Amino acid sequence: MPFSDIIGHRKQLESLARGLENDRLHHAYLFLGPEGIGKRTVALSLAMAIQCREQDSDFCGRCDGCVRVQNGNHPDVRVVEPLPEKKEISIQQVRELERELNYRAFTGGKKIAVVDPASLMNYAAQNALLKTLEEPPKDSLLILVSTSVGGLLATLVSRCLRLSFAPLPVQEVASYLETRKGWSRDKAELQAALSMGSLGRAAAPEMEELMQRRAAWAERMSSLTPADSAGWMALAEEIAGEREESLKFLEWAEGWYRDILICLVTGGSRGLSNPDLEQSIRRQAERNSRERVLFLLSRIGATAASIRRNFNRRMALEDFLMQAAGLR
Ligand SMILES: [Zn+2]
Repeated sequence: MPFSDIIGHRKQLESLARGLENDRLHHAYLFLGPEGIGKRTVALSLAMAIQCREQDSDFCGRCDGCVRVQNGNHPDVRVVEPLPEKKEISIQQVRELERELNYRAFTGGKKIAVVDPASLMNYAAQNALLKTLEEPPKDSLLILVSTSVGGLLATLVSRCLRLSFAPLPVQEVASYLETRKGWSRDKAELQAALSMGSLGRAAAPEMEELMQRRAAWAERMSSLTPADSAGWMALAEEIAGEREESLKFLEWAEGWYRDILICLVTGGSRGLSNPDLEQSIRRQAERNSRERVLFLLSRIGATAASIRRNFNRRMALEDFLMQAAGLR
């Protein structure tokens, strides 16, 4: 499976393949872009291309080097993520990584580390990594993966070469689901639209369940009014029960408000992420101004960030829903 088999991200892949070919890869990269669009896939593909025994500047996906990278047991390729049951990447993990990067590569090539998600490194861990970046070990390649630079030390960011990844075009996701997963065209198109260009999200099993829940969410969101405090308080309480559920709701709400914005700006419905909810989206567009929708979108981002930082979920959600209801 060579670079050309990866869905989307052509420009980014070309620039990495060129760097590899000319032996001019940077020693540290920061891959930025939304969740689930293939940043880690690209990072691991680059690692395979470096370790592949069969191909130069590309990968076969079948040789011993490639298979070990895929299975997570290549001695020169390391993925750093929070340990099971932990929310953060600790300083111990970064120190261990630093030690490993300083060893000579077993295969005589490069030592590669992928930190994903980099924003989950706590402050001490980021500071430790900064030291490694200031004096990068010879023949090491570090790839930080993150949805944004928020939560990362500016000094860390400035030492990496940034590569931004955009959501995949919905049509590309739909045709992937149709041809490779064997889904019907209707199902593939709707789930691709809902996933907002995230292949990971579109193909996730919980997507089916989400499909059913979001119609109910849309109805609840549409009926919020400033006077009905019981309505938004009850909704906040329902959603706040679990962290994942809260984040999923906010992710959906982001798509919903983005849809409303599309209606407001274009007057049409092309590119909606909830194409089957067009009627209620249009009704919301009639009631809201662009400024207000943009404000609510910014609040969704802030609310999700608070929840990720373990703030009181119910309070954070109540605050957002109160604003969505038009009280503030
Ligand atoms: Zn290979």
